[in-house]
Amino acid sequence: MTARLLIVGPQGSGKGTQGVRIAEAFGIPAISTGDMFRAAVSGGSELGERVKAIIEAGDLVPDELTSAVVRERLSEGDAAGGFLLDGYPRNLGQVGDLDAFLTDRGEQLDAVIELDVPREESIARLSQRAAEQGRSDDTEEIIANRLAIYERETAPILDVYRERGAVVAIDGVGSLDEITERIVAALEARGLARVG
Ligand code: AMP
Repeated sequence: MTARLLIVGPQGSGKGTQGVRIAEAFGIPAISTGDMFRAAVSGGSELGERVKAIIEAGDLVPDELTSAVVRERLSEGDAAGGFLLDGYPRNLGQVGDLDAFLTDRGEQLDAVIELDVPREESIARLSQRAAEQGRSDDTEEIIANRLAIYERETAPILDVYRERGAVVAIDGVGSLDEITERIVAALEARGLARVG
């Protein structure tokens, strides 16, 4: 049984945390482009050098580079039986890149999880994370930039996937366990089977 999933939601919606939990439940790797870029920056690789200033400003890394990183990661053996992508695609260009990649491989997405959280709640969660983790892109000004980019560039991708009937909308307000259970139940209702 495979599961090819996306999780989409504004910064501070909890998609990183839920993505890891859902990937575990379905026995697939959670692949976060943000985590991959941050690891490249802290490891000082050539990729890290190229993306550091962009990430610190809260802007988007160019599609060509991002999609190349994702293609490479999805070509690794552990993603053959499925994957959960967190933070990609982030705009319509990346949707096209992912479509082309999956079509080439004769694969398709099983579901796109939309995590709905009111704006005030995501801002509150982001400020809390800033205080706890000290991420350099969690300052007030940069958070505002990232949320504006989400609304302008990322939210429209949900319309495309909704038209394809792929979107599973989940209320993202509640306890971590409640939200995980909501997502698992919605995916099971679409015929996906959790492992264990
Ligand atoms: P995230 O942890 O998903 O919020 O990502 C952190 C930062 O990494 C973003 O603010 C962007 O600078 C960059 N990033 C992550 N995913 C993408 C993507 N799909 N396209 C472009 N930039 C990205």
